[in-house]
Amino acid sequence: MARRIKLAWWTRLTSRPWRIVAEIESADEIPATLPKNGAVLVVARKKHKWIAFDCPCHLHHRILLNLDTTRYPHWRVSFGKKKRLTISPSVNSSDSGVYCHYFIREGKVLWAKD
Ligand SMILES: [Zn+2]
Repeated sequence: MARRIKLAWWTRLTSRPWRIVAEIESADEIPATLPKNGAVLVVARKKHKWIAFDCPCHLHHRILLNLDTTRYPHWRVSFGKKKRLTISPSVNSSDSGVYCHYFIREGKVLWAKD
């Protein structure tokens, strides 16, 4: 009989903070699979263009947000202590049949109550 490893209760509550795992030059280079809580930043000519990550909801659908301030709508990203990701304003997606609305602040996801 296989031995089942019982994880401490807190390992299920703690997960890595959201952070940038790669900086690339073109949206075509965004990898199909991303590490958990990892986002990819597209930077062209020293300007933020896109941020891509998998939605923190159970479907993990891909989210692609425009960071180019000359286009609308656009988001801003910042990196605080320990490179923890903040995205503003909130992320709002209904692309994949589910409605997901949340904030990413200092590496943490805060679901909007709506
Ligand atoms: Zn989602």
